[in-house]
Amino acid sequence: MLTYPSRTSDVLIIGAGPVGLAAALTLRRRGVNVRIVDAAPRGASTSRAAVIHARTLEVLSTIHMATPIVEEGIVVPDFTVRDGTQTLAHLDFRGLQTPYPFTLMLSQARIEEMLAAALAAWGCEVEREVEFDSFAELESTRRAMQLVFRESARHERSFFAADRRPRS
Ligand SMILES: Cc1cc2nc3c(=O)[nH]c(=O)nc-3n(C[C@H](O)[C@H](O)[C@H](O)COP(=O)(O)OP(=O)(O)OC[C@H]3O[C@@H](n4cnc5c(N)ncnc54)[C@H](O)[C@@H]3O)c2cc1C
Repeated sequence: MLTYPSRTSDVLIIGAGPVGLAAALTLRRRGVNVRIVDAAPRGASTSRAAVIHARTLEVLSTIHMATPIVEEGIVVPDFTVRDGTQTLAHLDFRGLQTPYPFTLMLSQARIEEMLAAALAAWGCEVEREVEFDSFAELESTRRAMQLVFRESARHERSFFAADRRPRS
């Protein structure tokens, strides 16, 4: 169990990039009480991933996010790299054995927005400006750990206590 001043949760996810958001959504959809924190004040708006491959869409389909993402993106069934009139490489994705035989173009910032919105609809908001700093085992119990965070908005340090439950 994780506690932090007033709330408890079963899982704490540090980092609300696409991986953290997708993990949080996966857990929430299965009824797990999850919290997700991120050091940044808002989702990234810089250009990063623009191309989503079939396997990523297959994984996103398990949390019902592939269809809305495909609907917003640009489907690219084949890809050619050219230098002037010379073709350097041609990739054709149409033969892939997948429900998504293409690459999809959609900015990572938009995908993060969509994942965060879906997560919010499942009752979990990203807690922003909460930066993981360090952790230490609590001497008194040896079953618990203290996680230290910096909250830049409030200029204070906060503590989560994480209880290592024995496996049943
Ligand atoms: C220029 C560029 C182009 C790319 N193009 C593609 C592409 O076309 N296709 C593709 O699939 N991939 C692409 N990638 C890779 C893709 O961007 C990454 O694989 C993806 O961002 C990884 O997601 P993530 O959630 O693991 O990490 P990140 O996106 O890095 O997210 C990590 C999050 O954790 C937060 N965080 C970090 N430290 C802490 C802390 N101590 N406490 C609290 N929060 C913290 C950060 O603020 C951040 O929001 C590209 C990357 C770059 C840089």
